[in-house]
Amino acid sequence: KLNERESMYLVSEYAKDYFSEILWEREQGKAIGLSYFKERGFTDDTIRKFDLGYCLDLWDSFTKTALDKGYQLEFLEKTGLTIVKEDPGNPTKKRTFDRFKGRVLFPIHSMSGRILGFGGRILTSDKRAAKYLNSPESDIYHKSKVLYGIYHAKQAIAKEDNCYLVEGYTDVIQMHQRGVHNVVASSGTALTSDQIRLINRLTKNITVLFDGDAAGLRASLKGIDLILEQGMNVKVCSFPAGEDPDSFSKNNEYKEVIAYLNEHSKDFIQFKASLLIDEAANDPIKRADTVRDIVNSIAKIPDRIQREIYIQECSQIMNISESVLFNTLAQIGKKDS
Ligand code: ATP
Ligand code: MN
Ligand code: MN
Ligand code: MN
Repeated sequence: KLNERESMYLVSEYAKDYFSEILWEREQGKAIGLSYFKERGFTDDTIRKFDLGYCLDLWDSFTKTALDKGYQLEFLEKTGLTIVKEDPGNPTKKRTFDRFKGRVLFPIHSMSGRILGFGGRILTSDKRAAKYLNSPESDIYHKSKVLYGIYHAKQAIAKEDNCYLVEGYTDVIQMHQRGVHNVVASSGTALTSDQIRLINRLTKNITVLFDGDAAGLRASLKGIDLILEQGMNVKVCSFPAGEDPDSFSKNNEYKEVIAYLNEHSKDFIQFKASLLIDEAANDPIKRADTVRDIVNSIAKIPDRIQREIYIQECSQIMNISESVLFNTLAQIGKKDS
């Protein structure tokens, strides 16, 4: 099993090199893949740093080349780089397809820099095909345990003692290029406890940066409790409607990005309270729901003293007595146990 995984790492490393060579050296790669990344504002250095690549829009050019080089079909299939299908006309014969045909590629690195899988973005506006396609789960790629960008961010996360958590590959890359290096993405899945645990080894502070759309808001609300459960501090920073960290960092200088992040990051209580103010601050039912929602989040915090501090803050912001909040907290505690 260990040898199998080693073979999967090797074929993934080869694929990364192959797709990057296509991007830089082949006419189609330059005309389609490289120019796509340049249009997004990525510099040569950035494209190389993140090992970005392109898979030609042919049926199995990658698979054929890999087989020629001696890589085994078994591991091409196990990593999901190659899709193997029976030939309908001839059941004894198999046909192979490149999973990432015609897509630009974002290799996903482990904490130590090994290639675990790929994210591939489509370049056409074909609504029937998924915009992003990821490698399938495998013995080396467990979506729920991987953070995109962690290899390039880990030192900065420890140094800054904070980690920015974004939604997508391009958010990580654009912020990194802008000079904000402590950024990772939960690409392709909803945030998981295992992903937060990876960050927890480097810092106790996470700032969730979400897209200025409904999906972004939903995702960050879900993330808050998972982060609090691990005894970590969570802040939330939202972007203007229609913007995401990628577009924002592309259109603003480093100083402006940092200023925006500092000014718009709220702790989870301020953040949840601010959502209410947007809706109906004076509606007693909605106010009560918000208070309960905040106390529910406070209940996730393992440390008792921290819970008390947040209860005090909630009391001030929502203008509800601390004793009522403590009672509510105690009731939640009973329901849990
Ligand atoms: P882009 O700027 O290239 O359009 P994005 O990163 O802003 O992409 P979003 O639509 O905001 O993309 O989605 C956030 C993340 O969710 C993506 O980076 C990707 O990891 C994942 N994602 C988006 N669409 C899909 C999809 N159809 N299938 C799988 N994952 C997806
Ligand atoms: Mn989005
Ligand atoms: Mn986005
Ligand atoms: Mn985007």
